[in-house]
Amino acid sequence: MVQPVSPRPILYGETLESLTERLAENGQPAYRAHQILDWVYKKRVADPAAMTSLPTRLRTWITETFNTQPARLVLTKTSSDVTGKLLLEPPDKALIETVVIRAPMDGVGAERSRKTICISTQVGCAYGCRFCASGLAGWKRDLAAGEIVAQLLHVCRQEDPTTPRAREELASFDNIVVMGMGEPLANYDNLLRALTIVNADWGLRFGARRITISTSGLAPQIRQLADESLGFRLAISLHGATDEVRSQIMPINRKYPLAELLPAIEAFSQKHGRMVTLEFILIADLNDTPEQARALAPIARQLHAHVNLIPYNTVEGLPWLRPTLQKQEAFAEILRRADVSTTLRREKGHDIAAACGQLRLQTEESRAAAKARQISASVGAAV
Ligand code: SAH
Ligand code: SF4
Repeated sequence: MVQPVSPRPILYGETLESLTERLAENGQPAYRAHQILDWVYKKRVADPAAMTSLPTRLRTWITETFNTQPARLVLTKTSSDVTGKLLLEPPDKALIETVVIRAPMDGVGAERSRKTICISTQVGCAYGCRFCASGLAGWKRDLAAGEIVAQLLHVCRQEDPTTPRAREELASFDNIVVMGMGEPLANYDNLLRALTIVNADWGLRFGARRITISTSGLAPQIRQLADESLGFRLAISLHGATDEVRSQIMPINRKYPLAELLPAIEAFSQKHGRMVTLEFILIADLNDTPEQARALAPIARQLHAHVNLIPYNTVEGLPWLRPTLQKQEAFAEILRRADVSTTLRREKGHDIAAACGQLRLQTEESRAAAKARQISASVGAAV
């Protein structure tokens, strides 16, 4: 596995336990770990020199032991009034995308919007789904746990650069969704470590129930996730209600066909007693037929799952198109009549999965990188 280039461990990838161990090896008492983590997650201080309650020798040790600047913010971009994007650059020049989405809440209107952060877990993706740009260029590397956590710290800093309070700032968000670039369950250990830090009392204190992990359907890892004590929410990128259709657009389906995937999802929801979401991108003349809707209904009912229908966002260079509004409605209607809890997203950008998928796609990596390099000289902020 290719690892991030920095030889020093990233401070934001340390758990209370691992940090305590490292401190002990250095002859330091355990309470110092709490103090350091308070500086990082409560006060949002990244520079060890500014951790003024710590003895100078300890501050020097932190600087020498850890990487406290895993990625620089090189670009922020607002593509519409509802979505914004941060582009982070680690030393190996890989680009990490993080999306912030402000979407009006269903039935409430514009006065109260739902704020969501969409984070990435890999650079590129190895799974090659035919409709998705993340898979187009293939997999480059996994993100380290500290690089996953750093995305959230950067968002907090962007939200309010004047108030140095990471936890409080993050608490103003409703959800974190792991739907950015990459397949989260293919980077399982780093993902779990990062989310443990995000959830922990000594970390960012963000509730597991407000964190959704989206997967293209890695059945064994779904079962593994079911056994974790933290109750994250699960979303499955289904996009096909039969093996025939799903295998056409998602190569993973050949490895884990529906007969293997669906029982794994069932095991997860039984364990956590919570509704999973089935994401279903509607692609014209591929999976938008009444037959697919009729095949999807019993699957959703059996799993007690909510179906999120997402009209496809066209991707340059890919042949797929969004179905007509009429076809989208007809598909949703079949599900509703079959008593399936269903949402059909109409406006692009207002759907989390679509927004994460789409923004990423709009960023042609080479162009963004060139622009980022120009801008990096003037922004250059690190967490
Ligand atoms: N690898 C994971 C998470 C990242 S993809 C997964 O596949 O679930 C996040 C979501 O964006 C998925 O539901 C994916 O299917 C969706 N997506 C990708 N390309 C899209 C597009 N062009 N239009 C709409 N949604 C898209
Ligand atoms: Fe990878 Fe998810 Fe895109 Fe498929 S949809 S290529 S699994 S990021």
